[in-house]
Amino acid sequence: MPVPFLQSPNVLFDTVVQGTRRLSPGFVRVTLGDPSLADFAPYEQDQRIKILLPDGLGGYPGGLRGGLAEQEWRRAWRALPAAERPVMRSYTAHRVRPGRHELDLDVFVHEPAGPASRWALEASAGDHLLVSGPDLRRGHPTHGVQWAPETATTVLLAADETAFPAVDGILRSLGEEVRAHVILEVGDPSDAALLQPLAARHRVEVHERGGRSGGDALVDAVERWLRAHGSSVATLGLGFAAWLVTESTRVPLLRAATIARGIDPARVHTQGYWSARPRTTD
Ligand SMILES: Cc1cc2nc3c(=O)[nH]c(=O)nc-3n(C[C@H](O)[C@H](O)[C@H](O)COP(=O)(O)OP(=O)(O)OC[C@H]3O[C@@H](n4cnc5c(N)ncnc54)[C@H](O)[C@@H]3O)c2cc1C
Repeated sequence: MPVPFLQSPNVLFDTVVQGTRRLSPGFVRVTLGDPSLADFAPYEQDQRIKILLPDGLGGYPGGLRGGLAEQEWRRAWRALPAAERPVMRSYTAHRVRPGRHELDLDVFVHEPAGPASRWALEASAGDHLLVSGPDLRRGHPTHGVQWAPETATTVLLAADETAFPAVDGILRSLGEEVRAHVILEVGDPSDAALLQPLAARHRVEVHERGGRSGGDALVDAVERWLRAHGSSVATLGLGFAAWLVTESTRVPLLRAATIARGIDPARVHTQGYWSARPRTTD
């Protein structure tokens, strides 16, 4: 059940970079820390968070500070002149350690690097990052989690790199009885290493983008899988769930491919994680 915006449990956490690590050619892990993260909801899976990037000097406008509720920080953010408004991006809280006051941000550095990718490449210990995520004390700890398999024991997960952190969180949440078919699109196959070790019971296909636009290889692979298995998983009802994420303009193709095989749209989550169109704002 979606939480109305006015009841959003998200607050701004004023976090500090503890360190960064290059996980693979395309991924940088930024470990964030702050005592306030003791209250960060450790729900993981594909939990969506927002990050607000600091200005060139590493700071933020006065109205934006840790502890503000989502309604408050968004109002303050919108009220700023466009040139002073921190750049905002969506990321995944797939590894949260409230007991150690830490969370990891796994950033896929795409080419050309946008502001968030650049920030992750240049981040170093002591830098501040404002993160909006769910505060346990405000209820609704699953806010921002889209993965809702209910009783499904057969699942299809399809993603490009931007959603590998979410796929990692989802895979780690699956019960022993669940079999996942995982379809990944990569520029460099070694970036799929983020998802290791994968339980042997899951089936994983890795497809290289080659010279094609982001999302195209994924759509082809999902369509192929659905031609082979779509009609049979459609009969599973609540026993099947799909989570399909890639570039925004490819999302309708993924949705149409599942509908064409008779799969109940309620068993399918599709989402655009990035856009091939250059941004015009923030
Ligand atoms: C719910 C949610 C969760 C997400 N979680 C993560 C996460 O955990 N880790 C992660 O790395 N990303 C994640 N993303 C994706 C991330 O928000 C985008 O990739 C974002 O655009 C990166 O910001 P940027 O400032 O680096 O680049 P932008 O300024 O947004 O983009 C700059 C240019 O690069 C292009 N571009 C943007 N992304 C890509 C890409 N992936 N490949 C090729 N070209 C691209 C844009 O079209 C634009 O022209 C998530 C997105 C959503 C919606």
